Amino acid sequence: MSQNAAETTAAQLAANPAPEVTELTGLSSKALSERYSKSLLGVFGTPQRVLVRGAGCHVWDADGNQYLDLLGGIAVNTLGHGHPLLTSVITSQLATLGHVSNFFTSPSQIALAEKLLEISAAPAGSKVFFANSGTEANEAALKLTRRNAGTEAAPRTKVIALEHSFHGRTLGALSLTYKEKYRAPFAPLPENVSWIPAGDIEALRAAVDETVSAVFIEPIQGEAGVLELSTEYLQAAREITRDSGALLVFDEVQTGMGRTGQFFASAPVIPDVMTLAKGLGGGFPIGAMIVFGQENTAWLTPGEHGTTFGGNPVACAAGLAVIHTIEKENLLAHVRATGDWLREQLAGIQGIGAVRGAGLLTAFELKSANAPKLVTAALDAGFIVNATDEKTIRLAPPLVITTEQLATLVTALPQLISAAS
Ligand SMILES: *Cc1c(COP(=O)(O)O)cnc(C)c1O
Repeated sequence: MSQNAAETTAAQLAANPAPEVTELTGLSSKALSERYSKSLLGVFGTPQRVLVRGAGCHVWDADGNQYLDLLGGIAVNTLGHGHPLLTSVITSQLATLGHVSNFFTSPSQIALAEKLLEISAAPAGSKVFFANSGTEANEAALKLTRRNAGTEAAPRTKVIALEHSFHGRTLGALSLTYKEKYRAPFAPLPENVSWIPAGDIEALRAAVDETVSAVFIEPIQGEAGVLELSTEYLQAAREITRDSGALLVFDEVQTGMGRTGQFFASAPVIPDVMTLAKGLGGGFPIGAMIVFGQENTAWLTPGEHGTTFGGNPVACAAGLAVIHTIEKENLLAHVRATGDWLREQLAGIQGIGAVRGAGLLTAFELKSANAPKLVTAALDAGFIVNATDEKTIRLAPPLVITTEQLATLVTALPQLISAAS
């Protein structure tokens, strides 16, 4: 065994003290996948690989293969894998105080709430609610906006969302999600939702009347294949909802926390409510709802919403480490520069059609190649990418990825595209 391999094994053992886990080290991806299929509910299909370790922008599978991670756990691993500051902050917070419940608070919870209000340019009186995931943040937003119920004579019973939207899988958030395939098996769903074409200001104006309690918008529709909405559209949504008394919710679960080269893709437009999750904890589960303006904070009063884990000190410490690193390492400028460079390179590759996105949230369309086939070819060649449909590839790498690392994908793509054609 080489020195390196010995160190890796020792680190793995230290990280996994459970004998049940130790027993699995050394098993092949194939053997582990079979164990997975026997014990894990089949909602995700068969996992593409069994990953055992990560460092920076790379991960390794159980067979020892290395991959450049261009998906970042679906826009989650903001700082890559095993980031030293994130790791030490999480570890020391856990050793100091790991969990307190919502009967108590902790300095890291207060500090993260204050920091989120600062970076979102929230007006005085704005407040934060912490959850544990994106769908939970959206559930909180739905409960809050339901309180905007109108009057008995003129009730607000409708919610407007956009075609191709994705807002999560729990029943409330699922009501907002556009894909019929996701919703149909679970009908009836709790919300009365109408979907309108994304980006069409006149359609929005026509749909939002005094029967609408809320409008939910992703500034860039990530799951739909990185479909961007213009600042003009977001601004119009702000004005239309304000005029009609509907609440405006921006779902920045995927686009927030520096992903697009600004902290929030919707800036400078300020909604009534913003939801966050994916990138916020850098891999540690956390969600958040920012409620803008004192008048909106009054929609939910003591006892009307809650969570046991939300605002957990470790999760909040992780969020602080992520924001601290984005600021200290000037990552927003880095994300803009590397993202622009990447899209320029992609646009020049034969077989690639439209290239979309902002910062390090990018998608490209394949003219004739098959996207799921390309994902498989890319994995075999050591790259993790994602297909959002048959023709579209999405990239959401760690914000710390370098141009040199992205260039390895750019160089490999022509061959991957022909392999998938
Ligand atoms: C991923 C996602 C969600 C759901 O987040 P989960 O943490 O998976 O529940 C909601 N909205 C958007 C825009 C997302 O990308």
